[in-house]
Amino acid sequence: MSFTELRQHDRDRWHALAGQAVEKPETRHFIDGDWVDSLGGERFETINPATGEVIASVSAGMEKDVDRAVAAAKSAFRAGSWAKMAPRQRMKVLYRFAELVEANAAELAVLESVDMGKPIADAITTDLPLVCETIRFMAECIDKVDGAVTNTASDVLHMVLREPLGVVGAITPWNFPMLMAAWKFAPALAAGNSVVLKPAEQSPLTSPRLAQLFVEAGGPPGVFNVVQGVGEVTGKALALHMDVAKISFTGSTEVGKLMLQYAGQSNMKRVGLECGGKSPQLFLSDLPNMAAAVKAAYGGVFRNMGEVCTAGSRLLVERPIYDEFIERFTAESQRAYIPGDPLDPATTMGPLVTHADQQRVLGMIETGKSEGARLVFGGNTPDALANGAYVNPTLFADVDNRMTIARQEIFGPVAGVIPFDSVDEALSIANDTIYGLAASLWTKDLDKAFKLVRGIEAGVIWVNTYEEADFTQPFGGYKQSGNTRDKCMDSYRSYTQTKSAWMRLSE
Ligand code: NAD
Repeated sequence: MSFTELRQHDRDRWHALAGQAVEKPETRHFIDGDWVDSLGGERFETINPATGEVIASVSAGMEKDVDRAVAAAKSAFRAGSWAKMAPRQRMKVLYRFAELVEANAAELAVLESVDMGKPIADAITTDLPLVCETIRFMAECIDKVDGAVTNTASDVLHMVLREPLGVVGAITPWNFPMLMAAWKFAPALAAGNSVVLKPAEQSPLTSPRLAQLFVEAGGPPGVFNVVQGVGEVTGKALALHMDVAKISFTGSTEVGKLMLQYAGQSNMKRVGLECGGKSPQLFLSDLPNMAAAVKAAYGGVFRNMGEVCTAGSRLLVERPIYDEFIERFTAESQRAYIPGDPLDPATTMGPLVTHADQQRVLGMIETGKSEGARLVFGGNTPDALANGAYVNPTLFADVDNRMTIARQEIFGPVAGVIPFDSVDEALSIANDTIYGLAASLWTKDLDKAFKLVRGIEAGVIWVNTYEEADFTQPFGGYKQSGNTRDKCMDSYRSYTQTKSAWMRLSE
């Protein structure tokens, strides 16, 4: 069934599909093309955050399970059945893989939704189509990204060969479980590597199904493996592994720093990091369209429950439009984002990923109040959804950039408005953060726009828009938001290494 057809399903249909999918979901590791339990039988529970009910108990990988997956990946890489497959053939397998993901989109979407609370409409219109596009784009890179023959003296031939790294370990977060995984496994596989993926323990159900679909598409067993488990055990064992050539990590800045330590403590593996953010959205008083700006502002911070690395949670608003902006944001965002059943296609906001996260976000809201920010709306939980991990969309005004809610990533539907009086002041507030993932600015004035585009320390900048994206373009952070770029051809290249080959020719 196509994505367009899936968009016609109503709430009852999605509930029926979810019922089937969670009846007996696959909960084991996927290693060497097979479903396997942990060697010691360890398990952990995954919970539906919309209801608080346990969905399933999932295999928890220990060090020996990680060893087993890495050994399978290494042996598949050495055998060369994937790494040395003809480029066209590898492309065919990946295209078929993308087709199978699309064909299984309904099941994958409901699993994602019950596992981490994602609105089903988002899974069908955003996450899954983008997973397929990412796989297809990276497949396209296979015969587009070449090595080189360089200019040398006539008796010497020099070639730059571009080769895969070996075993890539991917460690991913729970906010876009399949998409963040695809940003890693798609370029890594396309470049000929083997992959061991460890999904977040909050959202374990979809990633191993993707690995299974890769094998169904003709990918050799052992090339794409998934080991389930908690970060401090399974993720750590993978990042410390001596046979892993690269760790590709998306998650918090705090854990990203650990990845660098693990690399230093083990084999100096490459470390690609996509980490947290505290992105500013700047609204200058000469903005071209207040309605569009306000819509982008609340979409930029409340989408996916605010659990987005690029969430534009710092709203910097120039003083002449400050009151009007807050008034319109308050009225319009509360109509657009109403917490509800994530399996209802009309729902735009589901629960947070866990009840612990709900309490953490409510704690941040209390901190905001106690540090003197003015609560404009929200700050509480919806009464009608008491069993779920919901938090109502929340807006603070009169926020000072030194407050905790302006400095720490909240990862929930909480925005803070900070007033400013000049472009220079806005620039200095925007950059006063350890993060540098994304930013937006709204103005009609080209000079101001360019000054801010050049001045803001962030890897992605939007002018008079928000969340514009394409998988052909680089995505990643400045400062402590990360050290790599996903999505583009550079990402593909980052899963390869160059070999400089010199050949002296006979006279
Ligand atoms: P997290 O850092 O807690 O966990 C991420 C992954 O790391 C999980 O798989 C987890 O099990 C694992 N992990 C945790 N501790 C570990 C350890 N000691 N050793 C090895 N692995 C460990 O992050 P999260 O809560 O899952 O995700 C939210 C974070 O991800 C936010 O900070 C968000 O900004 C960030 N994120 C960034 C991007 C980006 O592209 N920059 C995209 C999505 C999410």
